[in-house]
Amino acid sequence: MAEIQILDDLIVNQIAAGEVVERPASVVKELVENSIDAGSTEVSVSLINGGKSGIEVRDNGSGMDSANAKLALERFGTSKIRNVSDLESISTHGFRGEALPSIASVSQFRLSTQLRELEAGTVIDVHGGIVKGEHSVALLPGTKIEVANLFYNVPARRKFLKSDTTEVGQVKSLLLDFALAYPELRLRLVSDGKELASFAPGGDFFTRAKKLAVAGEKPLECRAETDTAQGAVIAEALLSQPIECVPTSGRLRLLVNKRSVRDKLLLRAVRDGYGNFLRPGRYPQGVLHLTLPPSEVDVNVHPQKAEVRFRRSEIVFATVRRAVEQALRNISAANLLDEDSSPLHSSAGGAYSSGREFPGNWQMAANSASYQRADYPQAVQENFLLADNLSGVAGSSLFLARETVPRPELNQMKFVGQVLSCYLILEAQAHVAILDMHAAHERVMFFKIKSQLNSGPLNSQLLLIPEKITLPEDKREAYEQGRELLNELGFETDLLSAGAIVVRSVPALLSDISVSEFFQDLFAVSEWSDWTRFVSDARDRVIARLACHRSIRKGRKMDAVEVYALLDLLKQAEASGLCPHGRPIVKWFRESEFESLFGRDV
Ligand code: ADP
Ligand code: MG
Repeated sequence: MAEIQILDDLIVNQIAAGEVVERPASVVKELVENSIDAGSTEVSVSLINGGKSGIEVRDNGSGMDSANAKLALERFGTSKIRNVSDLESISTHGFRGEALPSIASVSQFRLSTQLRELEAGTVIDVHGGIVKGEHSVALLPGTKIEVANLFYNVPARRKFLKSDTTEVGQVKSLLLDFALAYPELRLRLVSDGKELASFAPGGDFFTRAKKLAVAGEKPLECRAETDTAQGAVIAEALLSQPIECVPTSGRLRLLVNKRSVRDKLLLRAVRDGYGNFLRPGRYPQGVLHLTLPPSEVDVNVHPQKAEVRFRRSEIVFATVRRAVEQALRNISAANLLDEDSSPLHSSAGGAYSSGREFPGNWQMAANSASYQRADYPQAVQENFLLADNLSGVAGSSLFLARETVPRPELNQMKFVGQVLSCYLILEAQAHVAILDMHAAHERVMFFKIKSQLNSGPLNSQLLLIPEKITLPEDKREAYEQGRELLNELGFETDLLSAGAIVVRSVPALLSDISVSEFFQDLFAVSEWSDWTRFVSDARDRVIARLACHRSIRKGRKMDAVEVYALLDLLKQAEASGLCPHGRPIVKWFRESEFESLFGRDV
């Protein structure tokens, strides 16, 4: 039998260090968090060799007396919580009492601290977890921690450190998160004697975020709030314009109650808020700051506190999405009005004075924006967006901000003729448009069917024989969270025992689908928060099929009256935002393109 022994403190601290201390940036994170928890208004970080030879963090916070300084270096020594119930409402960064002893166990460590009220301060040296000495000396109030030769006694870990530049970059990015979370804090970073960053205090979240230029040009200012019985859930974000979205998620910073976190739900909520404005595979740049009552979020789920768990993720999700949606809506309205005031545009005249038309369109489009989804192929979507734009659908104009001569609206154009028994040629304001008649009509039909559906209650149809569907064990929680939502969408379901649910009714429009296949696909969608989309996409596909069957076909000759009616209907459909996904319906040409075709531009 192998004999069991209780590990001594030193080795326990080194094991803990394995979780908390990965690299210089993780040391800086713990130390700056402590400084902030101690009420500092100024924190200064200094690195030598990317932090590998030396890290120093100095603050003007509360400081400690000598007795507390000693306790701070003990494992589980913390002033931040006292009992289990405190864990439910943590308002400080720290609470585990592990950081200082862990760091001190894998470095040559010095703590210098002085309480404001005291004349003398305390200095304690610890090398590889062993206290080397303590003395008292007059210092400035506050705390300074020096960490020399990180991992000097754990060569295996030292090997994993990257180049100085990489390590410094990590620290810089970390401090940027702190700067965004704490606009009132003065922060400074010095590396090998050179000042790399200095954040002066002042302003609110948006002011600082703009100053730090984390979201590209003309960023979107997003804000939404939801009241709950426990307090408000507030989402604030500064995000890039859709055209400045990038193919990586790493440029979006997420803060939850001033903690920097990674979180898929938040990322998805932000992307959802962009809806169709975001091309597949693109992510916004910028920063999201979510503030919510501490009791609504569990921060004790990750050793480095880099992940959190929300008690009611559906509220968080909806608030964040709404913040982004609203900001996009405002900016597109503003853009449209800008375009409106151009003399070229108003010269178009015609029955529709765009000055009065746009705001109405914008509202209709905005109300139903959530029906759109951005996961069809990129080329198709780009075209789709361009096609959208011509009819004045709010928001799409972002993509054409650089266009100088505004495009006329389709229903203000002159019908020139039909070619190849399918394409309609239109002309106005130095533009020529070629419209695919069938596709245009299909879109109109789609709009008609869908708005009929939306205006009445969602019909659901009882199944003759209720169907039993297996519920994978790992989907059970998602199902329970999403059940109410499914109900609203027309799926009446109940949990049976032993990993199964029973489906009693389905939305009328989906009555001819295979229920079991549908649910299998639904469960493959990882989170309940995506289920609405999944169901509305399924419905859209059915509607699109119906619309296609009822649309005019290639070969039908259209006269001018019919064409103008189609253009008007198309405008309504586009403005409603209830468009199906699909291929483009219109192609545009400027006069200048004709000129260059015939060499007139040289
Ligand atoms: P935690 O932050 O989880 O409490 P730490 O090991 O990081 O654990 O710190 C232990 C304790 O030391 C803290 O609870 C705090 O009371 C004290 N402390 C650490 N850093 C500072 C600082 N910069 N200023 C004042 N007190 C500090
Ligand atoms: Mg701490």
